[in-house]
Formats: sequence, structure tokens, C-alpha cells
Amino acid sequence: MPDKNHLRNLRIPTKDNPLRILVSACLLGVTCGVDGDHYGEYQSVLKLLAYNNVKFFQFCPEEFVFGTPREMCDIHGGNGLDVLEGRAKVITSSGIDWTNEMIRASEKMLEIAKANEIELAIMMDTSAACGNHVIYDGNRYAENKKYQIGMGVCGAQLHKAGYKIISWREYECLEILYSKLDANHLINKLAKDFDQHEWYLEYFKHKNVSNDNLEF
Ligand code: SF4
Repeated sequence: MPDKNHLRNLRIPTKDNPLRILVSACLLGVTCGVDGDHYGEYQSVLKLLAYNNVKFFQFCPEEFVFGTPREMCDIHGGNGLDVLEGRAKVITSSGIDWTNEMIRASEKMLEIAKANEIELAIMMDTSAACGNHVIYDGNRYAENKKYQIGMGVCGAQLHKAGYKIISWREYECLEILYSKLDANHLINKLAKDFDQHEWYLEYFKHKNVSNDNLEF
């Protein structure tokens, strides 16, 4: 879950001492998606490129271990934390077990976070690797696909080590971040974090009910 207090308590970064942010590479337009593309334009994150007091460390954990292009994978039997603790598996859409490799990818991501003294991570939600708030519950291509509240394997690895993560759609948190980076930034008080969005409130009110019609 987003931690607004962490954002509020971040130091004021400077050009000489920028805020160090670990980011899912696809959010910056790197073509590391499963099909060799990126997944769209994430203006809430791309906006950060305009600041000179931010330093990004971009990483695609799946590309690191599986290469690009590659199969889609999802977590079966739990969430990323469950994978790290041996209770769930990462399975590709054709049924291959990628659990061990995904754990290795998460360890590499943690290594990068530590080596670069990361102060915040911004990650792609719903990914079996980078998810940090909501992920698929089993195969996303199943007719009755479901979502669950939980982290992907890399999100969980970072979380376990104490790193704070937000997704690209934690708009309220991001407003706080913009104001840290730019004293003149006027906070948009209407911005909502993901867990305040209509989709989220509606979907998880009926937890574990599949719904293919909702936009996500
Ligand atoms: S969500 Fe993570 S694993 Fe997937 S393409 Fe983006 S950076 Fe790579």
C-alpha cells in the first residue's frame, strides 16, 4: 500500500544530491515488455524526467532473467511474498514454472536497490514481477481472470527489505513527490491513489469475483 508519510518525509533533493528512484524500466519507455514493446506512456512517471534533482535507476527484472520477448507469467497460489516463502509459484501462460528464476530476478533488483541507496521505488502494477499493490490471481488469460491485492515477486523482495514502493497510478503520492522535487508545484488535491479509485473500491468490495468488463 502506498505510504504517504514516507513521501512527505523524503528529504528535499538537489541537483547535486538527487533523489534516487528505482523504476520499472517499461515505465520509462524501455521496450522490455513481454512482446518487445513497452506497455504505453506513463505520464505520471515520465513527468519526473523533467526534474534535475531525480536520479533514476531503471531495471526490468524479467528481461534480466528471461530476455525479451518472452512469455507472460503470473503468480499462482498466492502473491509475491508467498512465492518468496515457498507457498506459491510463478507460471507462464504455457505452464512453465519460472519460480526460481523470478526469485533470482528479485534478488538482482534488491541488489541494485542496495548498491544505489534507493530512496523510493516506482513500479508497474499488476506484473508478477513488479506489481506492488494489485496483481493477477492466477492466469490473466483465463476466462474467469481475477485480481488480488498483493505484490509481485520483486515488489515483495524490496518490501521485505524495507524499501517503499508506489505504483505509477498512486496519483496522490506522486503529487507529494512532485512537490518535493519542485517547491512551486501546486498539489492537485483531487488526485487519488489507486486504492481510492472507483475500479478498486468496486472490485475489491466483491473480493475474488472475476470481472472482465472492468478497465484496469
Ligand atoms: S513490469 Fe517489470 S518485469 Fe514487466 S516489463 Fe516492466 S519492468 Fe519488466
